[in-house]
Amino acid sequence: MVAEIISIGTEILMGNITNTNAVYFARQCAALGIDCYYQDVVGDNEERMTQMIRTALDRSDLILLSGGLGPTEDDLTKEVVCKVMGEPLVEDPHTRALIQSYMESHLKSNPDSAITANNWKQALVPEHGIVLDNENGTAPGLIIEKNGKTAVLLPGPPIEMKPLFEERVIPYLRSKQEDILYSHMIKICGIGESAVETEILDLIDSQTNPTLATYAKTGEVHLRVTAKAENEEKALALMAPVEEELKKRFGDHIYTTDEEVTLEEAVVHLMKKRNLHLTTAESCTGGAVASRIVNVPGASEILEQGLVTYSNEAKQRYLGVSKETLEQYGAVSAQTAREMAEGGCCHTGTEACIAITGIAGPGGGTPEKPVGLIYMGCSVNGKTTVKEYQFRGNRTKIREQAVVKALTLLRYCILKQ
Ligand code: ATP
Ligand code: MG
Repeated sequence: MVAEIISIGTEILMGNITNTNAVYFARQCAALGIDCYYQDVVGDNEERMTQMIRTALDRSDLILLSGGLGPTEDDLTKEVVCKVMGEPLVEDPHTRALIQSYMESHLKSNPDSAITANNWKQALVPEHGIVLDNENGTAPGLIIEKNGKTAVLLPGPPIEMKPLFEERVIPYLRSKQEDILYSHMIKICGIGESAVETEILDLIDSQTNPTLATYAKTGEVHLRVTAKAENEEKALALMAPVEEELKKRFGDHIYTTDEEVTLEEAVVHLMKKRNLHLTTAESCTGGAVASRIVNVPGASEILEQGLVTYSNEAKQRYLGVSKETLEQYGAVSAQTAREMAEGGCCHTGTEACIAITGIAGPGGGTPEKPVGLIYMGCSVNGKTTVKEYQFRGNRTKIREQAVVKALTLLRYCILKQ
């Protein structure tokens, strides 16, 4: 089955909103094993929409549309798709009742608004279509099948679109596929992409089912293992030996095999398990490491304090870095990183501290200490590890890499204990 993603809305064409729906659909298709050859964006214009949808239905089996299902004049998606597919629109009493009750409860919390005549336009559905009740809005999702082609129409707001996709569209698409794709994500940190690829070239070369794909992220590499089988049990059995092999090859560099788990989550869980508490002592990353930790619900169980000690004075006052060290070696040095990490633990009484000091640029570099040079110190239970890194790129890229490396180093130091 070949799918095509169509995002409807002049707002997207103008760059006023980011087309996150297309990214979402694309990822969902990949996870379902549905090939996707085209992504389109078209404004709220009947003629151009007609042309776009006709072309898409010509070259693809399934079109996934979002946007333009609202009550207003410029919301035309349903009308145009039905016209192109030759599907009459009829009023659906069930949808009408849902709109009525949704609007009534909406009116209770927004007494100034009113049900207007155009709201009922959303109760019109394709005569032979499947209606997907929308609990988060008034426009239902719709599926139309005709002449071997399928159109899935979903509302534009992601908060409405995603639950409909997850609860209704995925089961629908799965039911249309003979074999189902299942996949696991093996997430690796602390090894670069090319090193990971070299390590698994033989597995990639010999792959058929399951397949193995690598995705590089800043400071991380993700490996997707995907198996095609008639049910989940068989797919898992196909994937198991490959996953075992990957675990053998990458060992502790694998921080999770769960698609949803992030690096910061893995670190927080590890710290909870080991009953460790953390201080972050950041200079050039400006609190970004602490911010990643705080992304994780329940971070308060491990995060004691996040310090941004940008100036030399702050490094002395809050972390006890000595004046002599700063004068002799400079703020960007292994010695300072060590004292920051040890001082962080000492001053706050935590078992662990990750410290970062470096030159994010664009200015401030010298031949001896170029832009991108970053030192990190990590203390865990009285043992301190200091690392020197040389990152490339602009200020943002350098800082992003430093944050991931800091989380990776912290995890490594804990595991090493
Ligand atoms: P509504 O009933 O809210 O009008 P709709 O189905 O008609 O819903 P649009 O009017 O096209 O959808 O878009 C409504 C809002 O949904 C946009 O302002 C935007 O915030 C969000 N949205 C629409 N399309 C996308 C997209 N492709 N990616 C991300 N967000 C989107
Ligand atoms: Mg709209």
